[in-house]
Amino acid sequence: MGEEKNLEQMNDLVALCKRRGFIFQSSEIYGGFGSCWDYGPLGIQLKTNVRDSWWKAMTYRDDIEGLDASILMHPEVWKASGHVDNFSDPLVDCKSCKSRFRADQIDTEAPCPSCKAERQFTSPREFNLMFQTRAGPVEDSASKLYLRPETAQGIFTNFQNVQQTMRKKLPFGIAQVGKAFRNEITPGHFIFRTREFEQMEMQYFIRPGDQKAAMDQWKEERLDWHLGQGLRQEKLRFHEHGPNELAHYADKAFDIEYEFPIGWQEVEGIHSRTDFDLKQHEKHCKKNLHYVDQGDGNKKYLPYVLETSVGLDRHLLSLLCDAYRIDHVGTKEERTVLKLAKTMAPIKAAVMPLMKKAPLEEKAQKLLKDIQKHFRTEYDVSGSIGKRYRRQDEIGTPFCLTVDYESLEDGAVTVRDRDSMAQERVALDKALAYLRERLP
Ligand code: ATP
Repeated sequence: MGEEKNLEQMNDLVALCKRRGFIFQSSEIYGGFGSCWDYGPLGIQLKTNVRDSWWKAMTYRDDIEGLDASILMHPEVWKASGHVDNFSDPLVDCKSCKSRFRADQIDTEAPCPSCKAERQFTSPREFNLMFQTRAGPVEDSASKLYLRPETAQGIFTNFQNVQQTMRKKLPFGIAQVGKAFRNEITPGHFIFRTREFEQMEMQYFIRPGDQKAAMDQWKEERLDWHLGQGLRQEKLRFHEHGPNELAHYADKAFDIEYEFPIGWQEVEGIHSRTDFDLKQHEKHCKKNLHYVDQGDGNKKYLPYVLETSVGLDRHLLSLLCDAYRIDHVGTKEERTVLKLAKTMAPIKAAVMPLMKKAPLEEKAQKLLKDIQKHFRTEYDVSGSIGKRYRRQDEIGTPFCLTVDYESLEDGAVTVRDRDSMAQERVALDKALAYLRERLP
């Protein structure tokens, strides 16, 4: 597919997200606020499904505990972690049109991607990506704070709390989901790169020397998770960081990349962080963070860390891009369908009385009440049945249940499958069991 066609598809997806209540521009009634997005009723349900699936994969097991650390932290944390000194991107400006770019994302020897002026860039300046804010009423240097640029540091600062209260032995992990903030130089591509986003991170604490085994284990587990979300295998791949790409804390790193309409891009980082963070925190907080290994003669050492870090919003964009399809109904008519995995679909079923007529609505309402307790279900009574199907297809609803006049006679409904569009009659009192068998 050509680049133009891909971008067109991305624009169509953005339009669908707005039209159907998934994602809105932030502060839209004020003309919008760049690089921030609001999740609408369907968007937040989809996000919740993704978050739950990650949380379950990460914490419904013996070796990982959950955590929810605060966004604001002691400012020394960010000196220790290296973010104050190192968390920056090289910024260049086009002298002609004043557009800003990340020097590592464009060829500064080539014409400006925006105005095509020849080699008109300023020399690169390092631009720290952390948002600064202040605590309390007094504006002095002591009140300076940062909005966290990653959730990981809240895990490191709580390493001992979790290890001791939960009596964990290595290897064990701590998982956390939460907002992170980065003052990105070039945000864009919808929710792909924003200044406020959500991360799902897990730090796995291991014995020094076990990095390779941990990396192999987590590469496999994380790729399986993405596949389990319904993403197509051929759209996923690993990318190993070369020596120039490695972050200051890492001795090895792989990205899981997804092929977006804008090309192959990172959705998750799997980083071998050594003992860099715990060592740094030990130095800065002046407390002993060593682990006592009772299984190895009470040896004391700082654990090494294998991190998995996935952007919730970016992953959600990969799900939407992957699910977005244009099908042909019969030979002519086109339909847009979101082929989301059933586990991810925000609405699982729609109940539709064929017409706005009391006996049909009565039956449909009763069915709705039965199903709604178990699955998120929509009730739709307006417009032709064909239009209602199209709407449910666009939001990825796996099943539509239509109550028609025949239902009054035979006590059954027509169940239509989103993907095959096949229809079958199911007894009203068996409808819930039917869905239970087919929905996770
Ligand atoms: P990039 O190279 O794209 O800037 P990164 O390597 O800095 O990303 P990490 O620090 O490894 O990213 O963050 C882990 C994950 O968090 C990324 O894989 C991505 O899914 C997500 N993420 C990072 N920055 C953003 C952002 N500005 N907007 C949305 N998601 C982000």
